[in-house]
Amino acid sequence: MAQIDGLPPLSDVIRKHELSAKKSLGQNFLLDLNLTSKIARQAGDLTGCDVLEVGPGPGGLTRGLLAEGARKVLAVEMDPRCLPALAEISDAYPNRLQVIQGDALQVNALEHLTPPIRVAANLPYNVGTELLVRWLTPKEWPPFWQSLTLMFQREVAERIVAAPGTKKYGRLALLAQWRAEARIVMELPPEAFVPAPKVHSAVVHLTALEKPRFEADAAILSRVVGAAFNQRRKMLRAALKVMGPDIEDRLRAAGIPPTERAEQVSLEAFCALAREMARD
Ligand code: SAM
Repeated sequence: MAQIDGLPPLSDVIRKHELSAKKSLGQNFLLDLNLTSKIARQAGDLTGCDVLEVGPGPGGLTRGLLAEGARKVLAVEMDPRCLPALAEISDAYPNRLQVIQGDALQVNALEHLTPPIRVAANLPYNVGTELLVRWLTPKEWPPFWQSLTLMFQREVAERIVAAPGTKKYGRLALLAQWRAEARIVMELPPEAFVPAPKVHSAVVHLTALEKPRFEADAAILSRVVGAAFNQRRKMLRAALKVMGPDIEDRLRAAGIPPTERAEQVSLEAFCALAREMARD
């Protein structure tokens, strides 16, 4: 295996620091530094960028990001057992790695970062989708990040890039494609991880658009598509009943037949409906 830095192989790091994988933290580690460097390269040109990494674990992707030239990596890790291993990386890359121990859903990482900022992470599925939705739905746009390069279960990655009319089209596709360009850039088999998960994984790269494709309020759009796809087999007039008694009128005003199902409705039409919902 080619050397990307002067640090020991990750299997030695894991042994030395006794980092047995914890299921409760969704720990499936990447040990191949060629692979983690390849993922880091998918994040774009890192030189001159701060990178927010969520869930560095023993630091495989962290080392890839630093070796690929990130100006600074801010790594947020929940598991305190990983801190000594991350401290060794910090020593090898002076002043370029800052580690915060905590829950990425709670920590305010932004105060430690200077634009331009990219985000890269290999996270447990539930934390990853929750963070993705948060990163896609701030009130103001453009967001703090230029790009997000995130590992997901392949099934979730496919939902992010899904086209209208397909089974995987839903809230994630709409929110991702509304304000970003989303692509699957790598697929990884279970054996790429230790321990191997049951499912295949994929890396999604999202680039923030300068402006959303269509005007809408993020919170309202998120609520509308959430309700619409919560009962995706129902006609929209039934699925969206929770949004108010005049939903049929609002659907018509947005140009959507009330008998349509969510799967058939375009991003443009959902944004029109969100604008209708914003009216008094
Ligand atoms: N990035 C490493 C790699 O690729 O080998 C580790 C990936 S492992 C799938 C996920 C990592 O996220 C673990 O180190 C885990 O402890 C950490 N993690 C889980 N939940 C977290 C949370 N809420 N906030 C921060 N880190 C979390």
